[in-house]
Order: sequence, then C-alpha cells, then structure tokens
Amino acid sequence: MRKLFVFLAGAAALAQNAPDHPSVTVQGKTFTPRSILARNMGTPEDQSTAFPPHKIVGNVYYAGTKTLSAFLIVTPQGNILIDSTYERNVRTIQKSIEQLGFKFSDIRILLGNHAHGDHMEGDALVKELTGAQVVAMAEDVPALKAMKPGGKEHPVDRTIHDGDTVTLGGATLTAHLTAGHTPGATTWTMPVTEAGKTYQVVFYSSLRSPTVLTPPVIDEFNHSFAVVRTLPCDVPLGDHPSEYGMAEKYAKLTPGAPNPFIDPSGCRLEADVQEAMFKAILAEQQKAEQQH
Ligand SMILES: [Zn+2]
Repeated sequence: MRKLFVFLAGAAALAQNAPDHPSVTVQGKTFTPRSILARNMGTPEDQSTAFPPHKIVGNVYYAGTKTLSAFLIVTPQGNILIDSTYERNVRTIQKSIEQLGFKFSDIRILLGNHAHGDHMEGDALVKELTGAQVVAMAEDVPALKAMKPGGKEHPVDRTIHDGDTVTLGGATLTAHLTAGHTPGATTWTMPVTEAGKTYQVVFYSSLRSPTVLTPPVIDEFNHSFAVVRTLPCDVPLGDHPSEYGMAEKYAKLTPGAPNPFIDPSGCRLEADVQEAMFKAILAEQQKAEQQH
C-alpha cells in the first residue's frame, strides 16, 4: 500500500513538474511540455489498465494498456513483442495476447523503443516467462543495464546498430536510430500485407524533447527529425497510443469499412508536434542564455 502511494505521488509530481511553456500550435491544437506528458502518460491507472486488444493491420496487434503501447507481430515461426512496458503490466499484456487468441509463450523476440521504464522495464520478466531473445540498440544498452526491477538483471541477448534488421517467420523489421529522447531511441519499420496490398508500418519511438537541451542532444534531435521524414509510412504507430490517435481510430473500426489505422496523411503529425516543441524549447533556452 505504501509503495503504491509513493508511486502515485511520484507519477502525479512528474506531470506537474513539466513546465507549461513554451506552447506550440500544430494543426489547430496547442501543446505545452506539460500537456504532452499528460497526454502520453494519462493517470497511473491508465498506464496499467488494458486497452481492448485488437488487430491493427496484417499480422500486427495491439496488446498494451490505455497509455503504454505493446505491439504483437504474429508469424508462423513464433511472435515478436515490441515493448514490455512496466514490469507490473507484463501479466496484463499476457492476458491481452491470450484474448487475441495467441500464446504468450510463443514470443520468440522482444524489441523495445527506448530505454525508459514505462516501455522496457518488464523485459526481464518477459524473458523469464517466454525465453524470448531480447534485442537492444547499442546506444541504449547502458541505460537498460541500469534498469533492474526487483534487482533483476536486464537481459540483452543481441545488440544492434542503426539499420540492422530483425527477422522471424517471414517478418522483417528494420531498426532506425532516432536518438534524442534517449541515446538509443529506435523507430522500427516493417512492411505488412493485408487484402493483397503491402503497407509500411512505422513503430515510432518518442520524439519528445527534454526541457533542457545539451549540444549533443540538439544534434541527435536534428538528425532524428530528418530521418523520420524519410521513412516510407502508411500506418503510423507510437510508443504511447495518443501519439497516433489510437482510441479515436479504434472507435472507427467497422467491419467492411476502410481500416482507420491505415493513415498515410497522419504519418508525420506527431513528428511535426515534437519538432515544433523542440524548436520552441531551444529558442527559449537560447534567449535565456543570451540574457545572462
Ligand atoms: Zn520515454
């Protein structure tokens, strides 16, 4: 009980600590660092409550919570999970995967978007339960190694670099280093087939800027915003469902109607929001530096 209280207090403090300036408006919506964090994380309850599991497109399924994404890619040779989220969510994700009609124990490969606890804390438990191979971007390995829920060592079975691929049962994912949010933040891309057509799925990692920017991180973000604009994309996804409007799209799912998750025109929207915010934070910081 006490642990829960500390956690709730901590999460509430987190959203309030993000500043309410600068603000940017993109496609008629106004954002601040505080509102983006609140949108991404929701309440502590949202972070741990399953969102109805559903098929997204082709062999890609959603098995995460209301505010933390977990994607399942199903192949004839076993399955791939992207993001274990918090360790306390692993059993919730397992239940969602079973509701979809798949076996949790069929997970052969575990990928992640970036080395923050809300996306990859549960890796050790997923490995323990499934024996999956844990794949990590080299630049995020130090932060992952420091992530030890309950003292468990963070497993890393394969270290990858920008441009490397992960293949299982005919599915091939390509890792794109989109650093900034963390040094090894990884955007995954994968072609899928649905009704005889091929679609490019993009599993974006967060592009959210910290509120204090150092020169190396500024370089990373400038590079990453350029990279994400070159990725072929028909189905934008993200490590937080609000980054791609999951709830709104899910509500539009209708048998026989076009798949709302196929949304090429929405592919760059989140990058536009985050780049505008990054530039506004940078401008504010440079102005403050000049005044000193
Ligand atoms: Zn993060």
